[in-house]
Amino acid sequence: SEPILSVNDLHVSFVRDKKEVKTVRGVEFTLNEGETLAIVGESGSGKSVTAKSIMGLLPKRNTRIPQGEILYAGRDLVKAPERDMQRIRGSEISMVFQDPMTSLNPTMKVGQQIMEGLREHESISKKDARAKAVEMLKLVGIPEAERRMDMYPHQFSGGMRQRVVIAMALVCKPKVLIADEPTTALDVTIQAQILELMQDLQQKTGTAIILITHDLGVVANMADKVAVMYAGEIVEQGTVDEIFYSPQHPYTLGLLKSMPNLEVGRGDTLIPIPGSPPNLAHLGAGCPFAARCPHAMKVCRHFTPERVVKSDSHKVACWLQDAKTPAELTIAGKIS
Ligand code: SF4
Ligand code: MG
Repeated sequence: SEPILSVNDLHVSFVRDKKEVKTVRGVEFTLNEGETLAIVGESGSGKSVTAKSIMGLLPKRNTRIPQGEILYAGRDLVKAPERDMQRIRGSEISMVFQDPMTSLNPTMKVGQQIMEGLREHESISKKDARAKAVEMLKLVGIPEAERRMDMYPHQFSGGMRQRVVIAMALVCKPKVLIADEPTTALDVTIQAQILELMQDLQQKTGTAIILITHDLGVVANMADKVAVMYAGEIVEQGTVDEIFYSPQHPYTLGLLKSMPNLEVGRGDTLIPIPGSPPNLAHLGAGCPFAARCPHAMKVCRHFTPERVVKSDSHKVACWLQDAKTPAELTIAGKIS
């Protein structure tokens, strides 16, 4: 079947002090109905920027998309005018952020906020909107939903607030829900409840989810497929099984080894990846992971690795995957 969303060769640049910083480079993935794609990576790897590009929420003043397309329902959102994006946001594609207060108005009753979101996108009476809002609050597990409609965000706990935000995000039955670190600010038990809720709602509604997280543990339970981002690029993507049982990129391996509660293999201990990601303002040629990679070869420092296709779903950008490296490149005289 046709994917609902397909991101092709997406590039995003930020302009800082008149210099162009290539924050996202060549990002590609597809999302099918009812599917969960996890985008994993350290902070600053381009996960949120990718999400904001899809939502049309990049600051216009200092960002641009020099290349690439974001195809949704047969149209390219990169080229969509802002008024179309306003219609799409919230009704077709919704987003939940790490901090629920990003989405909530502290001075407005939560019921009112859900109803407004609904009435912005659908012509529906106040009475029906209220009924739908109550139903939605029940669906996300808010007890005494009827009474809670008239309460303000500060009267809810952090976890309950995030439930309200999820209710707001899903009330118009979007095809795609983008959740950017939706549980990072919550304590562990609440985290699990919210993730369970998202999975539960997905089964009921068929919404496709893009889950952005730095936590591979979350991914293992939630995702169908995984894209691993590093320094603005997807360095590896695959099904959850391919990524967890057959990781190919040294960075993916590093992430897996640095994860608690994950059986990486007998005898392996938790090892954080030494070093830090490159400064994107000074990104040179070659593999962006080269400075931290235990397998870096000469070719890695000179040429950006190409994406190697391991299976229909599994792609890796690493010279270790390329049979002709580094000998042929050396012979071709490309490396001195
Ligand atoms: Fe390491 Fe080279 Fe692969 Fe980059 S291309 S991950 S530096 S082996
Ligand atoms: Mg982020």
